[in-house]
Amino acid sequence: MENHQNFSTATLPDLVKFFNEMLNKNDLNNAERISSLLTERFGDHYVAWHIRAIALRLTNQPKEALSAIERSMRLHVTPDSLAELIRIYQSLGFYDQADQLSKNIAKAQELKQPLTIQFQREWNFNAYKNVYFEISGICNGKCPYCVTGINCIIGRNIEDIKARKFVDVDEFKFTITHLIENSIISPSESVVQLYNWGEPLLHPHFEKLLSILTKKGVRYGFSTNCSVLKELSPDVLTHLNNVTFSMSGFSQDSYNRIHGFDFEEVKQNITQMVHLWRKLGYRGSFTIAYHVYQFNILECQSAAKFASDLRIGVSFVHATLNGYNLMRSYFDDTMSREALKKCGSELITYFYKDIKRPENYRCPQFDNLVINEHCELLPCCGVERGMPLYSFGKIADMTLEEIKDKRLKADFCKVCAKIGMDYFGHAILGKKVF
Ligand code: SF4
Ligand code: SF4
Repeated sequence: MENHQNFSTATLPDLVKFFNEMLNKNDLNNAERISSLLTERFGDHYVAWHIRAIALRLTNQPKEALSAIERSMRLHVTPDSLAELIRIYQSLGFYDQADQLSKNIAKAQELKQPLTIQFQREWNFNAYKNVYFEISGICNGKCPYCVTGINCIIGRNIEDIKARKFVDVDEFKFTITHLIENSIISPSESVVQLYNWGEPLLHPHFEKLLSILTKKGVRYGFSTNCSVLKELSPDVLTHLNNVTFSMSGFSQDSYNRIHGFDFEEVKQNITQMVHLWRKLGYRGSFTIAYHVYQFNILECQSAAKFASDLRIGVSFVHATLNGYNLMRSYFDDTMSREALKKCGSELITYFYKDIKRPENYRCPQFDNLVINEHCELLPCCGVERGMPLYSFGKIADMTLEEIKDKRLKADFCKVCAKIGMDYFGHAILGKKVF
């Protein structure tokens, strides 16, 4: 698949066949590449854009998927394209439009349009596609702007820290089985990210957890602070979908200020993980998430070169206040003067004063399923113990409908939206650095 020229004589049905083969293997990266080839070569055919839409949605690019399916439907509308549009609406959280459109599908079916090319995958409309399962509540980072960090600038939330642990392997297995059997997640469409506020590679039975997911056909990903080097067997790498390397700069000085790790060791760990896992067959993505602070802006270029030499991706994001209470204390002016001075001298905050929550903003966290290391359902990634709404209880006691219902009725989310907290983090991370 690396060489597109292999497909220079392939017909449209050939490429559709290859696309379906990639989907069956859960090889979304190559499926996405084939879909791009299809639109390059057969951009005047509705099927090419339909397939492009499927690939973009499955690789978490719902806005781009929407443009692609609209383009397909401008060429030709089929019941399948309407069904795909519904899925994309759901990925974007446009549930009203999705419901409305469901009714139109029946109408389209009445048209009895012959479908010349069928897509093999079975879809599950309602299952959560983006899942965050904290397998290690524990982190060894010293980050001052993180609720888990040893040096958190507003002090540590002791209640939260005390309850943090590694997920129990048997309970993890039980919970994943429950999620699949109750169609809360779908092995073919969901990706389980194995982190939230902890370092997943610290889990003493990390590979056992991966093996559970792999045996059940579930794809997974994780973000790591790269302080630990993990060797993984080829058996579990088949279902690894994405790896993020979180970096706090590109010098020892920057690392001393934030993560507190040996910078050379971090670089070595990243290099080894990329080489080792690629050699063992991993074909998914590696991305450096470079957190931009005032003091490490000039190091961005070196980070970009490092990523380019390794042939991995890099994204530059504004470092932010990681944790509900931390962020709230900044925006409602309850943060101490000392902590505020530190934020002012390290974070890039000049645009914070202009952040305004748009009316009708819908919290994107509603579309994620977030589970902590006690296997409890959380309202979102940002909550901490001690808040009025931290957990809804064990997720293995709930059906899909109960989960959706509990989240819909959560009063705390209304309060959160009222003070704009559901928007701040999103706005900061979404602000382009370069
Ligand atoms: S930002 Fe990441 S590495 Fe730092 S303390 Fe928080 S979870 Fe750990
Ligand atoms: S509204 Fe606030 S508490 Fe509710 S899911 Fe969104 S960010 Fe979390």
